[in-house]
Amino acid sequence: MTKQYYGVPLERSDQLKLPANRNSCKPAKFADWLDGYGKERRLAVDLFSGAGGLSLGLQRAGWTVAASVDSDERALETHAKNFPGMSLRMDLGKPEVRDELEALLKPAEGKIDLVAGGPPCQPFSRAGRSKIRSLVKHHGRDPEDHRKELWKAYLDVVKRLRPRAVLMENVPDMGLGDDFIVIRTIEQELEELGYATQVRLVDAWRYGVPQHRKRLILLARNDVEQFDWRPESERRTTLRDAIGDLPVLPVKAREKVGDREWQYSEPDELSSFAREMRKRAPKEHVWDHMTRRVREDDWLTFNEMTSKSLYSDVAPERRRYDAEQFTDKYKKLGWGDLSRSITAHIAKDGYWYIHPEQNRTLTVREAARIQTFPDRFRFAGTRSDAFRQIGNAVPPLLGQAAAEALLPVDGDESAEGGLQPYWRTVREDLTKWAAERRGGADWFQLPGERMSPLQAAVVALLSGTRLQSAQLAKMVAAVKGQKTLTQTAYRALLDAAPTESARSRVDRLAVVLGKPELWNDADAVPEQLKMKPAEATLYQLLTGKDLLWIGQAALRVAARLNGSDSDRTNRLSDGRVNLVKLVGAGEEAPLRMAALRLIGNTVCRSREPLCVECPLARYCVDKDNVASDLFTDTMSGERGGDSVPAQARETGRRTAARR
Ligand code: SF4
Repeated sequence: MTKQYYGVPLERSDQLKLPANRNSCKPAKFADWLDGYGKERRLAVDLFSGAGGLSLGLQRAGWTVAASVDSDERALETHAKNFPGMSLRMDLGKPEVRDELEALLKPAEGKIDLVAGGPPCQPFSRAGRSKIRSLVKHHGRDPEDHRKELWKAYLDVVKRLRPRAVLMENVPDMGLGDDFIVIRTIEQELEELGYATQVRLVDAWRYGVPQHRKRLILLARNDVEQFDWRPESERRTTLRDAIGDLPVLPVKAREKVGDREWQYSEPDELSSFAREMRKRAPKEHVWDHMTRRVREDDWLTFNEMTSKSLYSDVAPERRRYDAEQFTDKYKKLGWGDLSRSITAHIAKDGYWYIHPEQNRTLTVREAARIQTFPDRFRFAGTRSDAFRQIGNAVPPLLGQAAAEALLPVDGDESAEGGLQPYWRTVREDLTKWAAERRGGADWFQLPGERMSPLQAAVVALLSGTRLQSAQLAKMVAAVKGQKTLTQTAYRALLDAAPTESARSRVDRLAVVLGKPELWNDADAVPEQLKMKPAEATLYQLLTGKDLLWIGQAALRVAARLNGSDSDRTNRLSDGRVNLVKLVGAGEEAPLRMAALRLIGNTVCRSREPLCVECPLARYCVDKDNVASDLFTDTMSGERGGDSVPAQARETGRRTAARR
């Protein structure tokens, strides 16, 4: 049987050349530009700008982008067409290039109000973390730094320019993937420079972006400690709202689909989103409404699919990929839903973005609309270049919402000498309290010089046994001064164990008896003792590793301090974001993390918290709410309900949001 040939002719679309914006400028003329077009404007610099999604958001919020920097030539051509100011092709990963940028921006010294950008970021392994602090202290100048973590370059530029405000956008994995170490470091560094910071995980659709897209936004400002976000919308902009007015394209297998310019006639009813997108676009036509040719087999497949279809539903004779491995290889979008998140993958193939009705993948213009680029915005280069630029962009409407939270606040300016950021003060108090506590009865709950790997292992193995603090202290004391587990120490531990459960935990140490060399390699202990993940995390924390201990006790403290219910509703996202503020970064971060666990386990109990004994009581938004709620519970005789009334939580959230 001859193999059916379905391929489409390989083609490269034409190169779209775009002239520079009439208010753009070359570096040599930057000083003149500042005195002319840039005068009296609120200026921003956009790092890793790409085509300018974030720049457009900044512009919509009231800034003028004085300089954008990227290493992608085509994206910069797009930027230069659509924005005034300088579009600079630079690789910010190199320190000498950052020197050059600083020199270029010298004429704007003291005039750059905002530095924005979304640096590409690779998650950090725990092993690499100890280097982070020293790198940022030395402006990222590390000859061994081959990975070029560009977030450090971003932070370095911020430190050099010292703008009033900072905006960073990134994928949630920048935080969630690696205990937020990068985010914690950036926040701590900025706070040390006198900036107040805020980190939010934002659903882009709540700010009008018609797609599923969760982003991590970091804001910082040194004028006031206030981040006023526009209220989130409950209404979703559907795919029909977003692209339903764009012309239907004839689609025949193997033939060209759409074109650079296509006739457009406005329908009688236009969604408010589409109306916004059509502003200042030519009335009679739409640009870049074009996509890849469609293979014959794909045409048939697209025709049969619904928005619920999986790749395994594709007729077997037309499958080119393993249906078990590639379960979502094809995705047909639904008119009534949000789109799948537009990513750079769209430049490779469009199979995640199949049009809901027409047997083809999305056009450049449709993808641009879903990213909230208006129809007047054009992209330089080939069709693939355009898809790549669109996929890599920050949606302008999301950028706008984030930037608006950084607008100056009338009549509210920081005192002479800059801000004393709220969370930095909280962390300082927490560190002081924990350091004192380390010298007292709770020493074995906190990392420090007194804590040996053996003692940390004992505490970790006994976690969850519900021993009283004094009982646990007695057991840890049984191995006091011991660097390795001897027969005598093991016996002493068993003798000190007050319950059967505690004895069985101690029994697990038997496998390392007679292996004194093990204790020289503290990192190998969890594996040798077959610790469960929670035990291993606690062990690592107590031996001074910088990590987030995402236990209920610490999450509860962080949530109550913030006046939120993130310990119960959004533990993995908002719960962690709240925790990050308290833990911070640097040498004392493990001490603060362990201290929060201790506070949560002792005073900030889920019921009847001992707020009078809490070292963080003066910062706690929920303190009075928790107390009054308990009073209500006692009066009504009810137990075990929600300990924070919804209304009180809302008040607390607003208070916290001001910070
Ligand atoms: S003040 Fe009370 S509710 Fe607030 S963190 Fe401390 S113990 Fe918990």
